[in-house]
Amino acid sequence: MTGRNSVASAKRRVAEVALLCLGLAVWSYLGVGPVNAAGQGEVNSRAPKRVLLLHSFGRDFLPWSEYARSIKTNLEQRSPWPLDIQEHTLLTARFTEPGAEGPFVEYLRSMYQGRPPDIVMSIGGPAAGFVQKHRAELFPNAPMVLTTVEERLIDRASLTERDTVVSVRNDFVAAFRNALQVLPDTRTIALVIGASALEKFWLEEVKKDVEPLEDRVSFVWYGDLPFDEILKRASALPPHTVLFWGLMSVDAAGVVHDGDRALHRLRAVANAPIFCFEESFFGRDIVGGPMHSIPELGEKTADAALRILGGEKPADVKIEPIAYAAPKYDWRELQRWGISESNLPKGSEVLFREPGIWKEHRWQLALIAAVILIQAGLISGLLHERRGRRLAEVESRERLAELAHVNRYAAVGELTASIAHELNQPLGSILTNAETAELMLRGTAPDLVEIGEILADIRRDDQRAGEVIRRLRSVLKKAPFEIKDIELNETVREAIGLVGDVAARRNIALAFYAPPEMELHVKGDPVQLQQVVLNLILNALEAISESQAGKREVSVTMGRSADSAEIRVGDTGPGIAVADLKTIFEPFFTTKPEGMGMGLAIVRTIVEAHHGTISAENQPFGGALFTVRLPIAS
Ligand code: ADP
Repeated sequence: MTGRNSVASAKRRVAEVALLCLGLAVWSYLGVGPVNAAGQGEVNSRAPKRVLLLHSFGRDFLPWSEYARSIKTNLEQRSPWPLDIQEHTLLTARFTEPGAEGPFVEYLRSMYQGRPPDIVMSIGGPAAGFVQKHRAELFPNAPMVLTTVEERLIDRASLTERDTVVSVRNDFVAAFRNALQVLPDTRTIALVIGASALEKFWLEEVKKDVEPLEDRVSFVWYGDLPFDEILKRASALPPHTVLFWGLMSVDAAGVVHDGDRALHRLRAVANAPIFCFEESFFGRDIVGGPMHSIPELGEKTADAALRILGGEKPADVKIEPIAYAAPKYDWRELQRWGISESNLPKGSEVLFREPGIWKEHRWQLALIAAVILIQAGLISGLLHERRGRRLAEVESRERLAELAHVNRYAAVGELTASIAHELNQPLGSILTNAETAELMLRGTAPDLVEIGEILADIRRDDQRAGEVIRRLRSVLKKAPFEIKDIELNETVREAIGLVGDVAARRNIALAFYAPPEMELHVKGDPVQLQQVVLNLILNALEAISESQAGKREVSVTMGRSADSAEIRVGDTGPGIAVADLKTIFEPFFTTKPEGMGMGLAIVRTIVEAHHGTISAENQPFGGALFTVRLPIAS
């Protein structure tokens, strides 16, 4: 180096240093300069990282689209840098014949020339092949992650120091063995696969791999069929066949099938279960089994990318090929195809179990059950109350019967004279007849015919006396309330017979008016109803005082109005004080010095127990009138 040169170079260095210092000062003044290590880190961490994501068949092309989504989600969640993810699709992978890649290469080069991405990530085999092939011309220095790619599709020889591989391992034999395990009767496996270059490659690989299984099961390959033809065949498969959903990206007719519509269509027509090792198809159409795990691949790929973006050398980021995850099965498909859970491999997970009606509508059912219980409680409460009321009713009737009985004994005093009189008659004539017969027998030639007639009279009088006793006993009998079909005229007539003498002794005419030919059928207890009539007649007789002048009569008149039978008991007594008309049926109401005030209360209770009514009024010409109405029996 010459002296002049060295002076010149020294001047230039001073100028450079000065410029640098000035630059640094301005940089630091603007607050963005690398003043210290921490500040520098902060600035760099804010700079966005440009990620180039290259898809094989399309952004929404299953199964890769699901992996790509998981990778992006992982990156976005975990990246310390803002990310600018730019996505491109290698459409040529869809072609059944090798397509021209030139224009796409040109497009990428013009996009990224001079501004290379911070990382290139290829999704799927075709994209991996593409970036490996064109790395030198497109991204000579950018780090690359080849992900979501089967091991066999990596060109290991062309890998550079700047490449990382996140691969998966397709184990066809394991997948098929799984189908054979869950459906042990399987005789045929039909492989649904498309006709793109990638799919053709895989078909050949599968054929090679499954050789060890060929003595156990036969294989049918649908690789060279248009999808419509595959559907037709799948709908008429012989028994013991299972379908295996390989790839169906482009069929033999060149039709592209992205998404899972093709699989839905197959599932809709197929008469055999469908297996597949891609988790992205799991959850609707396939039975399940060991599958590649989307979250695992997303996580591991993001790990690799973030390490590389953080400065690690790609060749040092080594990720083991990812095998199938623990098997998972769709419960609904197991049900549909009659697959027993006992056939599933150990450690399997069964998803999408349909909850039983109890699980699904637990709250609604609990609510209904609660409502039913409450209703049942209410009903049984009501029944209980009803029963209680019935019992109380029965009990009150029993009490009533007892009370009426006591009341009858009270009336017996009044009746004794009448009964004695009634008994006297037959007994007297029995005595007379017996004496006559004795006299005749003492004679020399007794008239046996006449004696026979006398004896017949004795027998008739005896029966009459027996009848009086029977009637008395029946009135005094302590009988429970008993409802029968009765003819009311008859029942009342019999009761009147008991008090005829009482009336006669008091010099009161007892009249009974029953329209001829009119029968009054009611349902009731005859003894109780007689008790009603007796009470009313005895009250009426009592109402007519001994000193009362004028007409002395008690009348019992039978009649009918609408649906009721009527018993009217009227008298020619003084009648009832208007103020008392409302209260005479109350218990213990009496105007008599020795009265109990129970007669009319009992009468009303008996009448109401027969669903009837009783009323009291004063007659226009004087005297009280009691009217009992009882429903006519239908
Ligand atoms: P008691 O005869 O023991 O008084 P009742 O219940 O049979 O009890 O009668 C209640 C009251 O009704 C009687 O005290 C009397 O005042 C009145 N009563 C009942 N029947 C007649 C009637 N035929 N005429 C006038 N008053 C009557």
